[in-house]
Amino acid sequence: MIATQDHRCLVKVSHVRHLYGKPGGTSLLVLDDVDLSLNDNEIVGLLGRSGSGKSTLLRSIAGLITPSEGTVAWLPPDPGGPPARVSMVFQSFALFPWLTVLQNVEVGLEARRVRPEERRRRALAAIDLIGLDGFESAYPKELSGGMRQRVGLARALVVDPDILLMDEPFSALDVLTAETLRTDLLDLWSEGRMPIKSILMVTHNIEEAVLMCDRILLFSSNPGRVVAEIKVDLLRPRDRQDPAFRALVEDIYVRMTEKAPSEVREGLFPGTGIGMALPRVSTNAMAGLIEAVTAAPHNGQADLPQLAQDLHYEADDLFPIAEVLQLLRFAELVGGDLRLLPAARRYAGADVDARKQLFAQHLLNHVPLAAHIRRVLDERAAHTAPARRFRDELEDVMSPEYAAQTLKAVTQWGRYGELYAFDETADLFSLDNPA
Ligand code: ADP
Ligand code: MG
Repeated sequence: MIATQDHRCLVKVSHVRHLYGKPGGTSLLVLDDVDLSLNDNEIVGLLGRSGSGKSTLLRSIAGLITPSEGTVAWLPPDPGGPPARVSMVFQSFALFPWLTVLQNVEVGLEARRVRPEERRRRALAAIDLIGLDGFESAYPKELSGGMRQRVGLARALVVDPDILLMDEPFSALDVLTAETLRTDLLDLWSEGRMPIKSILMVTHNIEEAVLMCDRILLFSSNPGRVVAEIKVDLLRPRDRQDPAFRALVEDIYVRMTEKAPSEVREGLFPGTGIGMALPRVSTNAMAGLIEAVTAAPHNGQADLPQLAQDLHYEADDLFPIAEVLQLLRFAELVGGDLRLLPAARRYAGADVDARKQLFAQHLLNHVPLAAHIRRVLDERAAHTAPARRFRDELEDVMSPEYAAQTLKAVTQWGRYGELYAFDETADLFSLDNPA
């Protein structure tokens, strides 16, 4: 896809494939035949849905895991290997709570046996660069999310890496904080003040990718692979309201929602059957979207980016809601549009109880995990089942984070549809007073 012998190429990923082993001896194919190169002086975005294997790929590039097959080559070859040349920034910040800001930043240098005075000098410079001056002796819990991520960035930069790998670095922050941090980072990058050659950034946010990247690699799910490369030629600093910016966002939307009919069913969310990893979308959000699209001027079909603007949503927040509606057969996504199906129109016109019944019926028919929970409860004499049991089943086929998120989503949907009840304190599902 990209010139193989580019002299500016810093790292080249070839035919990477990765499977996660599962207890039953089976395995989950997460990455399949991934190729990509990262060149000098560019910000590259890896844009894909949750669960598509982006973090797995980033961890492979960072040398934190060894992919089942394929290679990650550093150019020119370096006997020091990847750890010396990359730094990673995590969505969760990953700071040590018992260390101060200064100590957190110094940690990376300690591992590299840098002398204490030198360590301090470099850490203070990184802290200064990233705008944390004055917070050296604060502890992470005393800082806001945005400040914590600044510590994460300083810690990554202090080791002078060639490449900065960022795994959804802004997605745990509120909208305004995230935007400030993006802008600050872009300023440092354009002014050449960060000692790095290239940035590879993972995101599920289309607008963020268009705002920040020179090149966007579209990543497919199930299994993850690079399916398209999009060059972003817009001048910096970029303006989200610029028609060319909007047009590119729209174009990527269309590409990401364009799927072969057979993929619509299987490829919507990672995993299959009971093991499908689902996003936490509330039934309120689903009802709101159905109502908005039913009403004029949309009358049943709406352009998603446009709709996001009208509803004052971040465009990307609408995606999972639309996809859950598609999974539940209340809507379908066609060329960047959300089109309601007859069930959604019935839902919009129904009263509270009829809505719940209709929702429950679709939930049972189209979400295997919800049907499974209900079946287990029906079969047991006491009509109760510990949530732990379902969490364990999910953790056999997906990471603990995805298992927790999936179970929470299906719990809320089932409660709304009154398919089952859930007691948080006892961590117990039951058929008692479903409500
Ligand atoms: P993304 O970063 O795109 O959300 P991940 O790379 O975290 O995707 O995960 C891809 C898939 O691999 C998901 O289905 C996830 O549940 C699964 N997965 C991730 N880590 C593990 C693990 N350690 N063991 C088993 N499955 C995992
Ligand atoms: Mg991830």
